[in-house]
Amino acid sequence: MNLRSLFLQYNAQTSEAPIALSIERAEGVHLFDDAGNAYIDLIGGISVCNLGHGHPAIRAAIHEQVDRYMHVMVYGELVQSPQVLYAQALCEHLPSTLQSVFFTNSGTEATEGAMKLAKRVTGRYRFVSFKNSYHGSTQGALSVMGDPYWQDAFRPLLPGIDQFAYGSYDALDAITTETAAVILEPVQSESGVTVPDAAWLQAIRTRCTETGTLLIFDEIQSGFGRTGSLFRFQAIDVVPDILLLGKALGGGMPLGAFVASREHMHTLAHTPVLGHISTFGGHPVSCAAGHAALNALLEEHLMAEVDAKSNLFYELLQHPRIHKIQRCGLLMALHLGSYEENKRLIDLALTRGVFTDWFLFASNALRIAPPLTITIDEIRKACAILQTCFNEAE
Ligand code: PMP
Repeated sequence: MNLRSLFLQYNAQTSEAPIALSIERAEGVHLFDDAGNAYIDLIGGISVCNLGHGHPAIRAAIHEQVDRYMHVMVYGELVQSPQVLYAQALCEHLPSTLQSVFFTNSGTEATEGAMKLAKRVTGRYRFVSFKNSYHGSTQGALSVMGDPYWQDAFRPLLPGIDQFAYGSYDALDAITTETAAVILEPVQSESGVTVPDAAWLQAIRTRCTETGTLLIFDEIQSGFGRTGSLFRFQAIDVVPDILLLGKALGGGMPLGAFVASREHMHTLAHTPVLGHISTFGGHPVSCAAGHAALNALLEEHLMAEVDAKSNLFYELLQHPRIHKIQRCGLLMALHLGSYEENKRLIDLALTRGVFTDWFLFASNALRIAPPLTITIDEIRKACAILQTCFNEAE
């Protein structure tokens, strides 16, 4: 049996129609399949591989750490230098109210940890979240997710969740002294890239402060330079009480984090002790990889190039088929007429050597979120291929 058949037989499937490319290796902005075909990767593992595939500094950091030690103890007990030094490096780029990092394994665990922290700090249980938001697939994160299609089969979920349209000022009245936290993405990704007004985010911030409600920003997808600044909240100057990180945080290794003030975070250390536990959270190899990725992101000045690269994609991807392009830096969505049309384009592009995808809550939108290391030539080549697909697809 070939590998693809074994995959379909033995690996649990998440859809009826997986892409099922059999990956041999990946380098820079390219994926290579086992038949020797190369694909320009325009999605970077869904906003994970911001430094491209196989960045030498990340690989070296991983090798070095593997040779020193891997897992030694559950999170929080031993002093493990990759965890300590990465947390310190992150905090150097964060405001004085976000100086304590709790490492997890994934984005959704960061959401879970943050929701527990908000309940613990405020003594409240209600949350305000937004339609078309995605914060993860575990049950707390699913409870605040903004689409009943993915929730209904798994009810009952958490009580006390109030949901509003993203950008709606109606949400302000629902934020009261009974609300533990408001959770939102400062740029909403899976809706097909929705950029809210900074004034709306500021109004939410003000209302949270007035009511003693914590504000959670999910930057799991928007973080680490994708939108042109290290974190999106820095560009709009609205500071959350809890910041969620994941995806590119680990430089290609599994890693998530929630970041809060030292005072708030300390509440997870008593009554009960071990208020949040993780065996593998902040795995030393993941932290070493993530730290190397952060250094490379800064040293290679990649964020300074994000806007110009985004503009080039925007210019080269104009086509009558595309109704609108929504974007924030190198997080872009090409909105097409339907899911069917989008799927035909995605499939055709794959046969021509361009790898892309759709969005969870905007299945008619084609995702452009390449490694930030993509070159001008690679952008031109990928866009030329996509244009042939736009012209030829039915
Ligand atoms: N929040 C956002 C904004 C995300 O995009 C994702 C992943 N797509 C998550 C949370 C969940 O992350 P993970 O898949 O690592 O649990």
